[in-house]
Amino acid sequence: MEIRGHHFLCILGFRGLGYDEKFVKNMDEIIRKLNNEHDMLIKAVDSVDNICSMCPNNVNGECTEEEYPGSVKGKDRAILKILGIEVGEVVRYKDVVDKIKENMTEEKMMNICKDCEWFNLGYCLEGIRKLKG
Ligand code: SF4
Repeated sequence: MEIRGHHFLCILGFRGLGYDEKFVKNMDEIIRKLNNEHDMLIKAVDSVDNICSMCPNNVNGECTEEEYPGSVKGKDRAILKILGIEVGEVVRYKDVVDKIKENMTEEKMMNICKDCEWFNLGYCLEGIRKLKG
């Protein structure tokens, strides 16, 4: 399984919203798998991943939203840096979650995610609050 950096945070806030039905179904299945198999090995990436595989913005394996300042690729790298995970590193999902708990804060997340179209719904911040207890 490959997951891009910013999707580790999207997973926490996911409430069944997405680009279209196929995208939502795929994301839902991936999250269910991760929640059932905490030991699953994940390759952390900064390009299209298993969640992107059903996205309408994924054109021939490239994200059309990927390459501009503040784009998702920049978010991937910023988030992985905060978590202390290298791009391309293989990590257990439960270790990623522990690193989010330890290193990610609402403030850092706001700085990185504030211009995302889903962020203002508030679900993502609620997700990280819940995780950190
Ligand atoms: S917009 Fe880009 S990064 Fe986001 S899910 Fe679609 S292909 Fe992946």
